[in-house]
Amino acid sequence: MTPEAAPKKDFIRSRIASDVEAGKNGGKLHTRFPPEPNGYLHIGHAQAIWLNFSVAEEFGGKCNLRFDDTNPGKEDVEYVDAIRDDIRWLGYDWDDREFYASDYFRTFYDFAVKLVRKGKAYVDSLPAEEISAYREAQKDSPYRERSVEENLDLLERMRKGEFDEGTHILRAKIDMRSPNLNLRDPAIYRIRKIHHDRTGDEWCIYPMYDFAHGFSDSIEGITHSLCTLEFENHRPLYDWFIEQLEVFHPQQIEFARLNVSFLITSKRKLLRLVQEGHVSGWDDPRMPTIRGLRRRGYTPASIRDFCSNAGITKVNGVTQLVVLENAVRKDLNATAPRMMAVLEPLKLVITNYPEGEGELLDAVNNPEDPSMGSRKLPFSRELYIERDDFREDPPKGFFRLSPGTEVRLRYAYYVKCEEVVKDANGEVVEVRCTYDPATKSGQEGAPLRKVKGTLHWVSAPHAVEAEVRLYDNLFRVPAPEVGVEDFLENLNPDSLRVLTGCKLEPELGAAEVGQNVQFERLGYFCVDQDSQDGALVFNRTVSLRDSWAKVEKAAENRG
Ligand code: ATP
Ligand code: MG
Repeated sequence: MTPEAAPKKDFIRSRIASDVEAGKNGGKLHTRFPPEPNGYLHIGHAQAIWLNFSVAEEFGGKCNLRFDDTNPGKEDVEYVDAIRDDIRWLGYDWDDREFYASDYFRTFYDFAVKLVRKGKAYVDSLPAEEISAYREAQKDSPYRERSVEENLDLLERMRKGEFDEGTHILRAKIDMRSPNLNLRDPAIYRIRKIHHDRTGDEWCIYPMYDFAHGFSDSIEGITHSLCTLEFENHRPLYDWFIEQLEVFHPQQIEFARLNVSFLITSKRKLLRLVQEGHVSGWDDPRMPTIRGLRRRGYTPASIRDFCSNAGITKVNGVTQLVVLENAVRKDLNATAPRMMAVLEPLKLVITNYPEGEGELLDAVNNPEDPSMGSRKLPFSRELYIERDDFREDPPKGFFRLSPGTEVRLRYAYYVKCEEVVKDANGEVVEVRCTYDPATKSGQEGAPLRKVKGTLHWVSAPHAVEAEVRLYDNLFRVPAPEVGVEDFLENLNPDSLRVLTGCKLEPELGAAEVGQNVQFERLGYFCVDQDSQDGALVFNRTVSLRDSWAKVEKAAENRG
């Protein structure tokens, strides 16, 4: 593991630091992550999780997990389980502090009754469209002045199920002329005759999000309620509810949502990708969900590091995808073993190498980390190299293998191409080389003559076969939602390329699902869950920072 850097400072951390130092809330800090269980978590949620849990850690506080399950019908236990699992995988734990807004339905209802008693809420019987029109026109509903008794009676009968959906709602009585739309007598309770996963059929009226959310924070004693900017103009409403009921007042602080170029972070749109079959599921490795990133080969540490680097701000912006990719490169560079695999194989025969078993060569597992040790790599007369590493007619500046040139085989010998074998269609099916035994890697006195490049390879009789899936961005443009009627217009038709018959060094035959590995020169990969005994499947997590061509180019420029 790479030692993880401390989270970057941001305005929320500074604010919390001064609150804690000033002894506010008895110097205690309590945050929460409040997902609605109506979809899988994505990279944006990861940042909210990281923020809430990491500030709690930093300031010796606590962080709750609270499911905001006030909208039955759209919510599902499938999502609850997945959310828990994803947060744990990210490396956070809420101990026994797992809560559900639905646990507070009784309290919310009591709060609503109190508001009615105070003359601060009323039952409105206008149809929904008229309510919006009146709100737009800053006009009072004719039901606004109903008596407390009548309101109490109607609310009670709403609760008992005497009315149909849409016939009455309970509204806060605030100010129909407020410049803030949220304060124009917002809805508190609506009738919904729908089964709830946790409360069953106990309720047929459900609290609105704005009513339930702030009170949930209050009930749990959340000191700092961190949320995204779109709730900034809801804060006066939350404050109003809290003041009316004279309950604990959490401090809401808003921050900008995380947006990442080429990625979509809206559950609704992600759901469409899944439902319409543009991806294989929520965990498709091209999805920006935690599950997708995980299956793609992202590590928890890399995602936490990304969240810190992307930073927390007050201004909406877009974080470049490369920041996410670099986070996983950095982690895997230090932690993933480096092995050899040939994705598009071309046979290479060393004509002057003895027939038979061949030999075992020493290969280092990760030069960044000597503690990862070394392994024995089988070498023999017949190898595979990458088809792309050979050109019969090399363009200028091609530093790999071509007729008459000599290259180094990683961890092995120099080989020189003497001959090519073609099939009936004129396609090269084999290159025949000679090797120089005096050039053995690591051997004392090996000749220092210059070779043009170093190739990766796999011994043919020892190779393990695998399928390798290469991914490109799911969308062709950095801002898929901009300038089109439907973001699906921007889908990249070539976001997945599946290669079969790839050749891997034998050590990889024992790789387990989820294992990360660098294939030398090709990128970081991990074993996919579709793997079966003897039929491994790898996903490319990300390519190496620079393409090999660029590295070679730089070497050439240095002379
Ligand atoms: P979506 O728009 O995808 O449905 P949401 O905000 O409605 O997202 P919730 O389940 O309510 O989804 O989100 C839980 C928490 O995650 C909220 O506190 C929300 O502010 C935070 N969150 C959601 N998306 C982002 C994002 N892109 N960046 C930062 N925080 C986010
Ligand atoms: Mg939300």
